[in-house]
Amino acid sequence: YFITFEGGEGSGKTTVIHSIAEHLKKEGVPTIITREPGGIEISEKIRGIILDPEHTQMDGRTEALLYAAARRQHLVERVIPALQAGNLVLCDRFIDSSLAYQGYARGLGIDEILAVNSFATEGRMPDTTFYLDIEPSIGLSRIEASQGREVNRLDLEQLEFHQLVRKGYLSIAERFSDRILTINAERDVETVISEIMRHLEPWIKG
Ligand code: C5P
Ligand code: MG
Repeated sequence: YFITFEGGEGSGKTTVIHSIAEHLKKEGVPTIITREPGGIEISEKIRGIILDPEHTQMDGRTEALLYAAARRQHLVERVIPALQAGNLVLCDRFIDSSLAYQGYARGLGIDEILAVNSFATEGRMPDTTFYLDIEPSIGLSRIEASQGREVNRLDLEQLEFHQLVRKGYLSIAERFSDRILTINAERDVETVISEIMRHLEPWIKG
């Protein structure tokens, strides 16, 4: 199965995903973790271009196309082979990040971004998606408290931008409610992890 994790800055995706993978491996489920944008060499290079703090002139559509290109390469080079080898694939961000950030928050349109990404993925969607929902001011304060995190171009955005991202995610979660589960990520991380593990039980046994 292909399972993706979504959420705004400081929602805890990375921490949660690593812990979920540990739990799954203990239960004997072959699992790999990967992330977007990145995960493999070509896509990590594209990530570097997109997120370079000096690239303040980057146009929104350029950004959207680069994300889609990185996604394409990561999907064919990493995700699909891992799925075919029988792994559960846990991916930190996927298409919904583009819908929320570029489609909604940058105002390019959710349907437009969906179209570009359908070309990139040939319609391949995650089996299920956990959206870690958090009020952006809480998320951003968690980031400030944590050390060693890379500085990126998005750090220049104001709180209002992150509030738009959240509104985007909430509307996408409603639109794709058969695929996306909204998880309240304002609670402590252990509670969030055990709720996700509960949702995953039927997938592991099946
Ligand atoms: O998940 P991670 O925090 O590593 O993502 C790196 C950065 O890329 C974040 O600041 C995120 O907001 C940004 N991003 C974006 N549009 C996407 C995916 C990620 O602006 N489609
Ligand atoms: Mg992260």
